[in-house]
Amino acid sequence: MPPTTKDSIQVFDYIVIGGGSGGMAGARRAAGIHGATVALIEAHSVLGGTCVNVGCVPKKVMWNTASVFETLRQAKGYGYEFGQVKFDWSVIKEKRDAFVKRLNGIYKDNADREKVKRFHGHASFVNASTISITNEGTDPIEIKGKHILIATGSHAIVPKVPGAELGITSDGFFKLESQPKRVAVVGTGYIGVELAGIFHALGTDVTIFSRTKQILRKFDSIIKDTLLDQMQKTGVKFTFDSKVTALKKVDTGIAVQFESNGQKGELEVDTVLWAVGRASNTEGLNVAAAGVKINERHQIVVDEFQNTTTPNIYALGDVVGKAELTPVAIAAARKLSDRLFGGEQFAQSKLDYVNIPTVVFSHPTSGTIGYTEEEARAKYGDANIKVYVSKFGNMYFSVLEEKEPTAYKIVVSGPEEKVVGLHIIGRNSDEIMQGFGVAIRMGATKADFDNCVAIHPTSAEELVTMR
Ligand code: FAD
Ligand code: NDP
Repeated sequence: MPPTTKDSIQVFDYIVIGGGSGGMAGARRAAGIHGATVALIEAHSVLGGTCVNVGCVPKKVMWNTASVFETLRQAKGYGYEFGQVKFDWSVIKEKRDAFVKRLNGIYKDNADREKVKRFHGHASFVNASTISITNEGTDPIEIKGKHILIATGSHAIVPKVPGAELGITSDGFFKLESQPKRVAVVGTGYIGVELAGIFHALGTDVTIFSRTKQILRKFDSIIKDTLLDQMQKTGVKFTFDSKVTALKKVDTGIAVQFESNGQKGELEVDTVLWAVGRASNTEGLNVAAAGVKINERHQIVVDEFQNTTTPNIYALGDVVGKAELTPVAIAAARKLSDRLFGGEQFAQSKLDYVNIPTVVFSHPTSGTIGYTEEEARAKYGDANIKVYVSKFGNMYFSVLEEKEPTAYKIVVSGPEEKVVGLHIIGRNSDEIMQGFGVAIRMGATKADFDNCVAIHPTSAEELVTMR
């Protein structure tokens, strides 16, 4: 048991606020590997955070669901014959929810096995070493920590426009009991593109509102242009340079009122999905009581070691707003626990945020690591950058009328042609990316790529044979 103070407050080596990707990983590494006494505070009734409950996991189940439907459609081109395919959204929802529930149980068991003391409730700072935990129906309790980690994640933003509450966010997507026929998606980042793609592949009529002329604005042009073209070809509708000004309930659905290029317009749909970004969960944490600084976007300010502006208080994951990805939160949390509790050999342990591979579960999938061509030219200068591009059709589509593009770009710098960016879109890009991520992290050059014998016939072989 952790020691108690004179006035009977329990004292832990480590208090972790948030039982999501980062918090769970940090708590388990500290307790299970390094033997620290750890308290884990989670506001929700279940562990797992965004990724498990309303993020990566249920999203991937739905992406898989959409992919199965695509495969069934394509199967006819491969000579299969079968009757009309029927799809029941509620069946997969029930199975998906059951899978998530199973994961919640596994998370709880993992925490218990590693002797992480779980607290259910909302955490807030009393001072730099004391946390108050409040839970409806019970008296607040206070605990103390020698080290405190803030891993409270983020939440979806809902714009302040009249009727905004008629729309749903990604959280609402996972609550849908049936498949809407007509959907408007506002926002063209990861979530907008992924969820629009799932709806569309399953047969929903999808209109995407982009405030620019682009989608996935921060990605390399080879990804965003190829994907936009493909989405348009397959029937996703776009309203560019647009601003949604209001949502209104009408008899047969929701009217989306918008402006686009100076013109006012209205579109009736069944469901509106806000996918306009996420904001850090810092409200109610009372970080001011601990002297922890937050920036103008309410993100917790940290240095490269995840230290906040207050000694012994750390933050990581979505709440710091840097590479908001589950494996990033997990890796940062493990490195931090090693540094805090692993002894001298881990004194400099920290996550290197450079060259983090990431994937968008679009249709087709896309993957990226390192600098975009534009960023690389700005950083190294045009003269020091060379770009290899290959666009081709995946052999899978050779016997199908339906076609899907594949497009790869390698960005290299200097005479040694070090790979500083890799951007791929096409079937299986999600699975291809991981191995190339390892190579690029190791400092691979274009010659290293070329010296690897191709695996034939695959799409990925193109990456080691590009001229
Ligand atoms: P979270 O996992 O959100 O955990 C934070 C936890 O803190 C929550 O459980 C919350 O309830 C709790 N909490 C908050 N405030 C308090 C408080 N005051 N007291 C107690 N508890 C509190 N990433 C990927 O890598 N791949 C994907 O495919 C992917 N898909 C995604 C799809 C969607 C729809 C979304 C929304 C996100 C997706 N992400 C994906 C991002 C990923 O989910 C996040 O980056 C990751 O969950 C962040 O982990 P975290 O630990 O920082 O926060
Ligand atoms: P993103 O930051 O990726 O995208 C936000 C989108 O909303 C952008 O297209 C942005 O436009 C648009 N936008 C912002 N404000 C407005 C507005 N007022 N009106 C209209 N559009 C607006 O955020 P997401 O919410 O999509 O995703 C959050 C994070 O979660 C991602 O950054 C990613 O790190 C993580 N994630 C990862 C996934 C994965 O790994 N596969 C999947 C899902 C999420 P503009 O481009 O013009 O700025």
